[in-house]
Amino acid sequence: MESNTAAARDESRKPTAHDLEVLSRQLGRPVRDVVEIPARCICGNPLVAATAPRLSNGTPFPTTFYLTHPVVTSAVSRLEAAGVMNEMNEQLAGDQELSAAYRSAHEAYLAARNDIGARSGIGSVPEIDGVSAGGMPTRVKCLHVLVGHSLAAGPGVNPLGDEALDRIREWWTADACYCDRAWDTTGEPPSKDLSRHGPQGLPEIMGRPAPARKTANPAGAGE
Ligand SMILES: [Zn+2]
Repeated sequence: MESNTAAARDESRKPTAHDLEVLSRQLGRPVRDVVEIPARCICGNPLVAATAPRLSNGTPFPTTFYLTHPVVTSAVSRLEAAGVMNEMNEQLAGDQELSAAYRSAHEAYLAARNDIGARSGIGSVPEIDGVSAGGMPTRVKCLHVLVGHSLAAGPGVNPLGDEALDRIREWWTADACYCDRAWDTTGEPPSKDLSRHGPQGLPEIMGRPAPARKTANPAGAGE
C-alpha cells in the first residue's frame, strides 16, 4: 500500500470541527459520535457521516453510514416515495445474481464497520455481530442507508445503493457541488434536535433511540 495515499485518505476521513458544524447544520441537530467522514462533496463538505459502532453512552449502533447532505437525502426520499423499495424487493426475490451481490454488500458493510471500530479505538461490538442496516442482506427497508453505503464504499460494492444513485442523477451527481443554499449557514449551528426525520433505517432491535436529554426509565413498560 502506498503510505502517502493511505495517510491522505485517513486525513480526509477525520472530521474537523468545521465538518461537525456542517453536519449539524445539514441535519438540523447536533451530531454525536461521528468518527469519520467517509464521503465528501467535490467541494469538501460531508455527504455521509460514519457513526461509531458503539455510542459514547454505551449503546451498540449498527447504522454506520448516515447520509447527511440534504440534496441527496431528499432525492433519495423521492425514490422511496415513488415505491422504488418495493421494486427492488421484487428484483431481489427474482434475481439470484443480484441477491448474492446484495449479500456481499451486507458483508462489506460489516467489514467496513469493523474497520471503523478498530480505527476509532472502539473495537468489536458483539451485540451487533452480523447485523447491518437498511434491510440487508435480504430486504430493502431504507434507501438512505444503501446510498450512504454506496457513497462511502464507492461504486461496485452495494448494487442497490448504486442503482439508487443512478436513479437520482436528475437531482444529484457526484461530479457537481449542490451545497449552495442546501442548508442554513447563518447564525449559530443547531444545539437542539430540530430534525423532522427519525434515524435512517435503525433496525427494530434497536427500538426507539432514547431522547438525548432525558434520563432512561429502567422501570419502564417492560415490553
Ligand atoms: Zn459541495
